[in-house]
Amino acid sequence: MTIRRVAVIGAGTMGSGIAQVCAQTGWETSLFDAFSESLERGVENIEKFWEKGISKGKTTSRQKEEWSANLIATREMSEAVRDSDIVIEAVPEKMELKRSIFEELEGLAPPNAILATNTSGLPISEIAAHTSCPERVIGMHFFNPVPLMQLLEIVRHEAVDERTVSVAKEVGEAMGKTTILVSDVPGFATSRLGVVLGNEAIRMLAEGVASASDIDTAMRLGYRHPMGPLELSDLVGLDVRMDILNSLAEAFQDDSYRPHPLLKSLVESGNLGKKSGRGIYDWTSGDKVERV
Ligand code: NAD
Repeated sequence: MTIRRVAVIGAGTMGSGIAQVCAQTGWETSLFDAFSESLERGVENIEKFWEKGISKGKTTSRQKEEWSANLIATREMSEAVRDSDIVIEAVPEKMELKRSIFEELEGLAPPNAILATNTSGLPISEIAAHTSCPERVIGMHFFNPVPLMQLLEIVRHEAVDERTVSVAKEVGEAMGKTTILVSDVPGFATSRLGVVLGNEAIRMLAEGVASASDIDTAMRLGYRHPMGPLELSDLVGLDVRMDILNSLAEAFQDDSYRPHPLLKSLVESGNLGKKSGRGIYDWTSGDKVERV
């Protein structure tokens, strides 16, 4: 299928990154947000990324002009999705909100358009079931920062059409991503393994198996992980990781997914990781420092 026009709903961290890569791919890309400040910030972040690319010699001014011309920011959802071949939703991780967006999209987007969600863990089938076109709804789970991260998880559910799966794959590959196909189970293939590893590393830290940096070094040098599980947990946000663990425990009715008490106490005391200055490590100096 030839893709000409893409609409991205939500101009936050993920939506702006997805729109940026779509514009770079050469597609006419409209970026919609319900809030003007968020929309402006999203476009600013894209422009900044491109400016930085020019100063580093990775991009030319001409290329940036072409990419900018592909990007249209709008506060009108009907204008954003008009004539689009695919719509990618990236609004906050709330089921009710996503459902209402999909309900609206169904009425506004062309009848053949693929409707994708970038949810990091909500059941795609539940979003799809709220529309009368579940066969066109699919999960496209990008990673942060979208322009730099290689992986795209394509999440299929029972009612999805094969054409939808193949268009989503084609779109991801054209964006330069490596796609994997995953069933619609909580945590997909990435979040589930990632949080379990992080939770176990926290348990080991609490049990005194080794220091935080030695546990991280073990996985970096012993298993070739680019980053240790504790450092990664701090970067993602300990609150985010705790929420995912709790939702997996609920979904699978399995308490082995429950966050370790050390993780809970760090979150409860406001130590959320790099974003709050402290987590498993101390980040207040800008660098990662072991806490004693
Ligand atoms: P974010 O908070 O940075 O962005 C959400 C954007 O949606 C904001 O700009 C907000 O103004 C906008 N928004 C809110 N209500 C809206 C509405 N009704 N209509 C249109 N726009 C609306 O969030 P994010 O981190 O970009 O996450 C978006 C989605 O991507 C979530 O489902 C999240 O789970 C998923 N995700 C996030 C990451 C990550 O690392 N941040 C990674 C993968 C997937």
